[in-house]
Amino acid sequence: MNYRHAFHAGNFADVMKHAILALVIEHLKKKDKPFRVIDTHAGIGCYDLAGDEAQRGGESVDGIARLRKAFNGMPTELKDLLAPYLNAVAACNPDGGDRWYPGSPRLARLLLRANDHLVVNELNPDDVQVLARQFARDSQATVLAQDAWLVLKSVLPPKERRGVVLIDPPFEQPGEFTRMTKGLAAATRRFATGIYLLWYPVKDARAVAEFTESAMELGLPRLVNMELYVRAPGPGKHRASALYGCGMLIHNAPYGLVQALEMLLPALADVLAVSGTGRAKITELRGESGG
Ligand code: SAM
Repeated sequence: MNYRHAFHAGNFADVMKHAILALVIEHLKKKDKPFRVIDTHAGIGCYDLAGDEAQRGGESVDGIARLRKAFNGMPTELKDLLAPYLNAVAACNPDGGDRWYPGSPRLARLLLRANDHLVVNELNPDDVQVLARQFARDSQATVLAQDAWLVLKSVLPPKERRGVVLIDPPFEQPGEFTRMTKGLAAATRRFATGIYLLWYPVKDARAVAEFTESAMELGLPRLVNMELYVRAPGPGKHRASALYGCGMLIHNAPYGLVQALEMLLPALADVLAVSGTGRAKITELRGESGG
């Protein structure tokens, strides 16, 4: 397990993933009933953008930093959609500035109400200790150190019977797309009404097409796919090395999310695209996802 999210924290992919996660959590808060956020591949929860790893990667410059710069000039509807996410980023920097960036566990935790619960799971033994320290005195958070694909079986369904599951693997080993499809199948058998967010990198168009096809074959009723491209694919039709976009497969998208993302993702593509090649693509794979 070599993957360190600190090299990538706050990049364009985090921006898309975390903005969507924040919108989903805000949607869950529209009802009084408690819910649970389950983060199967959690990372360390909070990243120092001035630290060595983030500085070496330098990816937040073309991610959260660009978004913060563009924010003031955005129309109100877009500002409203980004507010839950960007307020959480600001809450990580109580003295102002932009040094700290929340990973999905911190972001989710900042958005919970008093009766909601967070489960964060991380297999890297060092990283899970960081999480355990962060949430040590927090009765609303459970920290697990298991294989994510087993967690999907052991923690579902949540006792609240409401919630969102974020599946955000590192894609450092072959077979991650297949594990995602199988994981989604197993998870939805246990918790059919849950909202599922499955993040993936777009490097190889053919691998992505195979993934979305196999997800459709699961026969799930409400699947929609979001993709954000920030640069043109490199030479070669199926070049499999350089990240030029990312995607989020969503099952059971809450009411209004697809419409919100139809507005937000093209704007993010404009802001985050490296060389004027930004594009967003939303594909309804199965059923009515937005309504
Ligand atoms: N979700 C985090 C966020 O948005 O801030 C980033 C997660 S990062 C992309 C993926 C994480 O998954 C890494 O921290 C890695 O150590 C962890 N990981 C890798 N394989 C795993 C597995 N089988 N089960 C649980 N965690 C795993």
